[in-house]
Amino acid sequence: MRSEMSLEEALLSRGVRDSNGCLRWTGAHTNTGYGHISVNRRARQVHRVAYELWKGPIPEGYDIDHVYANGCRARDCFEPNHLEAVTPAENHARRAAVVTHCPKGHLYQGRNLIREGNRRACRACHTAANEQWRAKRRQRMVADDDRRVHIRLRDGREVVRYDRAGKWFVEFPEGRRHLLKLSEAVEWAFDKGAEVIFGVPGGARFDGLVRQKWESTGE
Ligand SMILES: [Zn+2]
Ligand SMILES: [Zn+2]
Repeated sequence: MRSEMSLEEALLSRGVRDSNGCLRWTGAHTNTGYGHISVNRRARQVHRVAYELWKGPIPEGYDIDHVYANGCRARDCFEPNHLEAVTPAENHARRAAVVTHCPKGHLYQGRNLIREGNRRACRACHTAANEQWRAKRRQRMVADDDRRVHIRLRDGREVVRYDRAGKWFVEFPEGRRHLLKLSEAVEWAFDKGAEVIFGVPGGARFDGLVRQKWESTGE
């Protein structure tokens, strides 16, 4: 259908003027918010197509800036008077001048500003994300603790099972511990003097092996 429509008509038929004076694209968008159109079976950004159509070729390696100073406020705008070809460095510098805060509203300045090449990051958000990760990890460790099985042996030692890693440890009263083979743990759990202190005896394989042992001895 578009073959009978010029590219100009195709663009204008899907443009709507908003209150900022932007000519907004009503067709497909990229997930980063740019207008998107197929030209000669090639996916292209609408503002770049519009620039070439109405203002001229884009110099090699140049970005098309949506010029904030001209009133442009939308990535999917293709109003030619809002578009300008600039070097990527200039584009970044302009954005930095306009975007002074992170998406959460912290100021990009002084100690709060982290530079990652051309990009800026917010230290407050970075710290909050780290803290969240640590809190999650603490929670996970507490949960693992709940799933431990402590078995006190006749000689006072404890067998401890960590459910997550499926690993067994012998934990001595002074806190020292060493890795234990599954067969050894079964042996100790089977010890008739052993007593489960807390935790849920867990792990199908472990329970199965203990049961097997009980059955084989015919107790
Ligand atoms: Zn605009
Ligand atoms: Zn922030």
